[in-house]
Amino acid sequence: KKITIAIDGFSSTGKSTLAKQLAKHLGYVYVDTGAMYRAIALFAMQNGYISNEFFDKETLIASLSSIKLQFKFNTDLGFAEMYLNDTNVENEIRTIEVSSFVSKVAEISEVRAKLVEQQKEMGKDKGIVMDGRDIGTVVFPDSELKIFMTASATTRAQRRFDELTEKGGDVSFEEVLHNVEERDYIDTHRDNSPLVRADDAIEIDNSYLSREEQFDVVLGLVNE
Ligand code: C5P
Repeated sequence: KKITIAIDGFSSTGKSTLAKQLAKHLGYVYVDTGAMYRAIALFAMQNGYISNEFFDKETLIASLSSIKLQFKFNTDLGFAEMYLNDTNVENEIRTIEVSSFVSKVAEISEVRAKLVEQQKEMGKDKGIVMDGRDIGTVVFPDSELKIFMTASATTRAQRRFDELTEKGGDVSFEEVLHNVEERDYIDTHRDNSPLVRADDAIEIDNSYLSREEQFDVVLGLVNE
């Protein structure tokens, strides 16, 4: 019997790696909700609505209906890529610039309402692994399995730093650590569906777990 798996937690805890592995193994659909918030942040940047100096929230809110987000499966990569108004933005949404604005965009109630609605629609059929911040609490409070992932800020910053530099990104470790801590702060303090562990979520601290160990633990829970 297929189920819905909700994976939430702090940034760079390895949620998406785990979720992708699980989806592949189980033959489920994987949805990265962070990519959707990132695409909206990218849209705001591209249109000059957000910068280090200012943020024109009203215009962004007014433009939300003209933003089309889609996931398209890439068979070569084995996962779905994010499309913003029919353009593949999978790489653009992973930059440190987008990371530095995304939590501010994700605080906006209208943005969350739009994305949560789309996420609920995507999860209508069981057999889905969705990762984010509010999946077990808001999007699928009735999901059969909820995982909450944590790890120390330095472990997470190191992971993000390695990913970014691997792709040729020009960032310092301190910059990445600062970004991870800032996002944690905004994500846990916003008024609208802040990042919290759902009461019935199982917490996994992966500071000391390898990818394989973590996968085995969660697969064991799926099979229970
Ligand atoms: O998962 P990822 O780090 O790509 O998410 C980027 C940002 O998007 C998070 O820091 C958070 O501000 C926002 N987000 C959210 N709710 C989700 C997924 C992501 O607010 N379900």
